Amino acid sequence: MITIRKANDVAAYLIKPGAESATVGFVPTMGALHAGHLSLINESKKRDAITVASIFVNPVQFNDPKDFENYPTTLESDINILEQAGCDLLFLPSVSEMYPNGLNFTDRYELGEIEKVLEGEYRPGHFQGVCRVVHRLLSVIPCKHLYLGQKDFQQCMVIKKLVALKQIPTEIIICPTKREADGLAMSSRNIRLAQADREPATSIFKALQYIKNNIKPGDITNLKTAATQQLTEAGFTVDYIEIAETGSLDIVTEWNGTKKLVALAAAFLGNVRLIDNLLLQD
Ligand code: AMP
Repeated sequence: MITIRKANDVAAYLIKPGAESATVGFVPTMGALHAGHLSLINESKKRDAITVASIFVNPVQFNDPKDFENYPTTLESDINILEQAGCDLLFLPSVSEMYPNGLNFTDRYELGEIEKVLEGEYRPGHFQGVCRVVHRLLSVIPCKHLYLGQKDFQQCMVIKKLVALKQIPTEIIICPTKREADGLAMSSRNIRLAQADREPATSIFKALQYIKNNIKPGDITNLKTAATQQLTEAGFTVDYIEIAETGSLDIVTEWNGTKKLVALAAAFLGNVRLIDNLLLQD
């Protein structure tokens, strides 16, 4: 695996003889890699001739400066994981390499309703920052396939919108959420969970499963209330538990028995914010 820190050097690598006709698969990450990230690399290895990963903790997508400061970094282990997975290129830029004109942006991405609900409501500006980084990364790493995790359900929708808005010829492949044996969705932030919180952390997946197992046509607000109560009893401070249509993320309070739905949750355990989601129909 080759590690490149400069955007221009990536272009030189990707257009070298032999590479220009090869398909590129790209996995953007913020590091602290785990088996969830690895599953995205493996998908790219299956489909594409060249697999590129990036590690960049993007300051402009953090609405909470403390979350940014405390974001885990495990670079040495990340490089080993990527090497062993057969990743071809790691793009490891600095903030100034990513944002050569500084961090004061005057333009905006027109994302509509999707950036106002759920994560958008609780993390103002977050999805503008996500678009900023993904847009820049895709200009440095033009790729046939962009691999994203369903773990960040709303982020996948936002990036689909970005790609359509900017007419970027990249196909988005969404990979299923990798979980620990007890159901906890793998996340870089799990490292920061206190030991005593590790077992209660599974309640977030259990609450989503509760919704999935009990949903019936008709009013479904009682399910949200019960799931919120379960999380609160397990020690979480809940930002939201919502049920939404999978295609639009419109919040649903009444189910007609046919619409495809997803349950989504975000909640704090101590100072660690966890998110998860579950499709309600298989
Ligand atoms: P992050 O490093 O958290 O920004 O995540 C980088 C990519 O990995 C994003 O597309 C995430 O959705 C994806 N990802 C994170 N956790 C998981 C997981 N548990 N299973 C599958 N993909 C994941």
